[in-house]
Amino acid sequence: KKNVLIIGAGGVAQVVAHKCAQHNDVLGDLHIASRTKSKCDDIIASVREKGAMKVAGTFEAHALDAKDSGAVADLIRKTGCQIVINVGTPYVNMSVLDACIATGVAYMDTAIHEEPDKICETPPWYANYEWKKREACEKAGVTAILGVGFDPGVVNAYARLAEDQFLDTISEIDIVDINAGSHGKYFATNFDPEINFREFTGTVYSWQGGEWRENKMFEVGKEWDLPVVGKQKAYMSGHDEVHSLSQRYKDADVRFWMGFGDHYINVFTVLKSIGLLSEQPVTTAEGLEVVPLKVVKAVLPDPASLAPGYTGKTCIGDLVKGTKDGKPAEVFIYNVADHKEAFNEVGSQGISYTAGVPPVAAAILIANGTWDVKKMANVEDLDPKPFISVLNRIGLPTRVKDAAGDRAVDFG
Ligand code: NDP
Repeated sequence: KKNVLIIGAGGVAQVVAHKCAQHNDVLGDLHIASRTKSKCDDIIASVREKGAMKVAGTFEAHALDAKDSGAVADLIRKTGCQIVINVGTPYVNMSVLDACIATGVAYMDTAIHEEPDKICETPPWYANYEWKKREACEKAGVTAILGVGFDPGVVNAYARLAEDQFLDTISEIDIVDINAGSHGKYFATNFDPEINFREFTGTVYSWQGGEWRENKMFEVGKEWDLPVVGKQKAYMSGHDEVHSLSQRYKDADVRFWMGFGDHYINVFTVLKSIGLLSEQPVTTAEGLEVVPLKVVKAVLPDPASLAPGYTGKTCIGDLVKGTKDGKPAEVFIYNVADHKEAFNEVGSQGISYTAGVPPVAAAILIANGTWDVKKMANVEDLDPKPFISVLNRIGLPTRVKDAAGDRAVDFG
């Protein structure tokens, strides 16, 4: 058994907490820490309300400023946690990772580190922060699994699965993320609006022809025809997984596509064009200094509040092209998740669900030794089969569509 410390208490943390509780027989004592302790208390209350704990056990809330690495290390020691699941804002990644290295415990996150005042850094983004700690992890024997949400995360495992099981050579990896759900609000983002908008205000980096290509958001669009969600328009977007996959699949084109409706694009374009998505502070006539992006975040719905009314499904997957036995071949490896089912099970919408279940699958694999690799790894560096098997069991089944048909994949 390995005790777990969850950092952050937002939409994704809610799912992580419920899933850890459902598997506390393998994971042991559970702790959750965020700046606002009451958010942690609420999450634990919802876990208790659903009777989610598999076996009787500890689940405690803590107040923590995760930017304070010393405070994170103290809490790790105090709670005796051996696995830290960081699902706080990406601004706290490096301080939490440093605390894990200092205390010798396993680390994971679901997004690349960001600095609040910097947007769109040089690719590959991981090299600016996390990868600088590779040697320190290896030296301390610390397992650090980066970007183990859905995208990044499961989609990295899908690319590796295509490599291991379905294709001999890989020439293209297109990751497609379609949310065909509806939250019924005029406008809302599915996760932290600040992080969400930052993703789309910068340069769109893709890896094509062995080099980084730059585009603007909404410049390159394409209609996809996917299982369950049907024909959907998606746009080439910047995304974390392109930055690690481009290193393993240097000879392949690696692109990320996200589905957007015209309404989202209109609202986003207006906000951006008039400067309301800027992360640079402005001073009002009254002498008040405000960051426009923070103001927009403050007036938009809290992503967690979308959960109760959310309906519809998501489809996220990898279309991987290459060759098999010398002939051109392609495979689409994907998951379909349902917003309402996620809400009924863990009280969250589908986007938080798809992001929150994978780090718990990874925690189970670290606890049982399978993924306890004692070094820093991106998900595609690890054997995808045990990960996909656990995901199949705990709520995110994988399917594959190729010339042989559309079917579930499992490895027992
Ligand atoms: P939320 O904004 O809902 O939650 C972030 C949490 O971090 C809040 O509870 C916030 O609460 C806490 N936090 C912020 N600053 C600090 C701090 N200094 N110390 C401690 N806690 C802090 O975001 P989500 O739950 O939607 O997303 C969480 C993470 O998951 C993000 O990194 C996001 O990018 C990532 N993500 C990954 C996906 C994937 O598939 N890979 C998909 C969706 C999200 P408070 O400040 O009050 O404590």
